[in-house]
Amino acid sequence: MSSSQDLFSRATEVMPGGVSSPVRAYRSVGGTPPFLLSGKGCRVTTEDGREYLDFIGSWGPLILGHAPEPVVEAVREAAGRGTSFGAPCLAETELAETICRLSPVADKVRFVNSGTEATMSALRLARAATGRDSFVKFDGCYHGHADPFLVKAGSGLATFGESSSAGVPEATSALTGVLPLDDEAALSGWFAAHGQEIAAVFVESIPANCGLLPQRPEWWRLLRALTEEHGALLIVDEVITGFRVAAGGFCAQAGIDADLVTYGKVIGGGLPVGAYGGRKKWMDMVSPDGGVYQAGTLSGNPLGMAAGLATLRTLEQENAWQRLEELGAAWEQRILPLLQIEQEAGAPIAWRREGSIFWLCFDAAEAPRDFASIPSSGAERFGRFFHALMSEGVMVAPSAYEVGFLNLAMTESDLDQAAAAFAKALPQSR
Ligand SMILES: *Cc1c(COP(=O)(O)O)cnc(C)c1O
Repeated sequence: MSSSQDLFSRATEVMPGGVSSPVRAYRSVGGTPPFLLSGKGCRVTTEDGREYLDFIGSWGPLILGHAPEPVVEAVREAAGRGTSFGAPCLAETELAETICRLSPVADKVRFVNSGTEATMSALRLARAATGRDSFVKFDGCYHGHADPFLVKAGSGLATFGESSSAGVPEATSALTGVLPLDDEAALSGWFAAHGQEIAAVFVESIPANCGLLPQRPEWWRLLRALTEEHGALLIVDEVITGFRVAAGGFCAQAGIDADLVTYGKVIGGGLPVGAYGGRKKWMDMVSPDGGVYQAGTLSGNPLGMAAGLATLRTLEQENAWQRLEELGAAWEQRILPLLQIEQEAGAPIAWRREGSIFWLCFDAAEAPRDFASIPSSGAERFGRFFHALMSEGVMVAPSAYEVGFLNLAMTESDLDQAAAAFAKALPQSR
């Protein structure tokens, strides 16, 4: 058995930072990331033979927990028949039918292989639909790593203290308008000045890549009114919330009438699947029906489709969304008294929860709704908490700006175990 330390040294020789996605390298909390060997239910086992109760859930997709029987079986069965055809397969239609039935926004969907592809394709479609080039996003919202979106985007970048990435042409980022969340005046002002140039507004349904920053209903109403008035598309990025917060995602839960919607994470059941969808009149513009080109060698492959279908079917059969809300409430009940203790010790931590998604905001008495109000001092405290929690056998994402995810494999006794670990780890953050 090799230690994670040895394995990580080996990995850094052949991969930048030793990882395939930057935040996994533990740069913001320090230390060496454990190498995972296996996962079952809500627990993972490392190559060193340690076990952790896992609140990362592969950063959102694993709503049923690790290696759930229906998904593993469906993937095994599909793999035996062939992993990819580059031709239509029935599972594609079945998953598309399921998504279109549940989503209040999607009359039609196009499958891609990641959330990043979904948002970049949706942007191309919006630009074609409006004949306009510029668009708007919000500070702290993450929409994947395509060039136009890497302007003030999400935890990975905030953690590194960068507002943007090297290698993005200025001509590209000049077309991206960035506004603060939770600010109606900024929204109205931008539309008054640039309304006729905006192809679309992209927004995370419940911003969850830089803390958890749900927006007020009045803010949503203004956003919908302004986009409609100025002929800009409203594109709601549900890559995290799609089929997690409610059967029809956030748009169904909050009654948001979006033009386009993007999905990922949960719809692939742990395999690489993304999708964008929307009103028929927009989706009819996508190639080969229309002139907006977008393609993919492995898009709609039978493995990803099988995993997604098995996941959504299980969620529907088990009326999972009610159970996830119950689990969320049970978790909250266990955590709030612990945060009260920190408050009384003069080391406040604010709490935010949306169903099965939660976030602890260190050094804040009240949970903020915009990126600029997240205290940067909290990151240091988070680092101490993170390592203390790992020693207690509980794993959360290695960044103060990341949320935690509950999943359906968790029971109340798992939550008891996790709460006991939090009770020991939280005071060590002071
Ligand atoms: C994860 C995420 C993406 C990007 O998805 P990938 O599959 O990582 O490319 C886009 N938008 C949101 C809201 C996300 O959380």
